[in-house]
Amino acid sequence: MRLARFPRRRYTPAPTPLEKLPRLSAHLGVEVWIKRDDLIGLAMGGNKTRKLEFLVADALAQGADTLVTVGAPQSNHCRLTLAAAAKEGLKCCLVLEERVRGSYDRNASGNNFLFGLIGVESVNVVPGGADLNDAMMSLADDLISQGRKPYLIPGGGSNPLGALGYVVCAGEIVQQSLDLHVAFDHIALASGSTGTHAGLLVGLEAAHAGVPVIGINVSRPRAAQEANVFKLVSETADFLGVPQPERSKVTALDDWVGPGYSLPTPEMIEAVKLFARLEGVLLDPVYTGKAAAGLIGMARRGDFKSGDKILFLHTGGAPALFAYQSTFRE
Ligand SMILES: *Cc1c(COP(=O)(O)O)cnc(C)c1O
Repeated sequence: MRLARFPRRRYTPAPTPLEKLPRLSAHLGVEVWIKRDDLIGLAMGGNKTRKLEFLVADALAQGADTLVTVGAPQSNHCRLTLAAAAKEGLKCCLVLEERVRGSYDRNASGNNFLFGLIGVESVNVVPGGADLNDAMMSLADDLISQGRKPYLIPGGGSNPLGALGYVVCAGEIVQQSLDLHVAFDHIALASGSTGTHAGLLVGLEAAHAGVPVIGINVSRPRAAQEANVFKLVSETADFLGVPQPERSKVTALDDWVGPGYSLPTPEMIEAVKLFARLEGVLLDPVYTGKAAAGLIGMARRGDFKSGDKILFLHTGGAPALFAYQSTFRE
């Protein structure tokens, strides 16, 4: 695998904490542990930081002066790409896809507020369903015509290079599980643009970890999401030259998506409140809230065996809570 051959910037000095959630475990009747990637480096953390360690290193190696990327109006990925650009002395231009019409408001709180604060160069809003690559390419063409050197990062940083961030995380989890002497029976996480899910599967396979991964969808139906994850799994395994996990190892459940991407559900609201009130852990309304709703729902419907140890991957996102205050007010 030789991961060390890839250029990498380091945005976090140490492995993220992996700890037990005793009060939540008692409440649910299964043992729940948490991997705190919400406590990772760059502005307010989250999973995109790990992908950006490889993507930004590649941008710098290519002599780029501007990062261009795309996301939803409350995109954590856009905030963290912007923060990485600031740290590296690069410019950053964003394309925002309004998956929900009229949802971008430059004066909104949460990540929208942070885009301005961290110093985004430009924000182009395109309608939901627009060709996002096209939108990034035409922005890049403008920059090139001004003598600039843009580097394009796909939505969520989810390509084989970005997925390496979660191949690294898989190794970290395997080491921590050994150090803590806890053999996890499942790892649960939110599955979105797929880089996190795919990287984790490839990394766990390469380590012969034998821990099944449960993806919980935040937008797509199960079959579509599993196909997307498996595609990136194959590309990432090829890119690294490691054996490819079997298709049967890709699970992406769609029972907790609700009405659609970023739209609240009662189960998400309950999950966010449970984690906050039992453990002082802040989830987010779009990804980890729905993933935790899945974990809680599975525990309640008896999907886990007694004594099972579940590791919940906290992928960040809490800054978006501030754009959803009315959703949580009682
Ligand atoms: C982007 C994101 C995810 C999903 O990760 P993907 O790699 O896009 O599947 C999960 N949680 C949070 C908080 C995110 O911002």
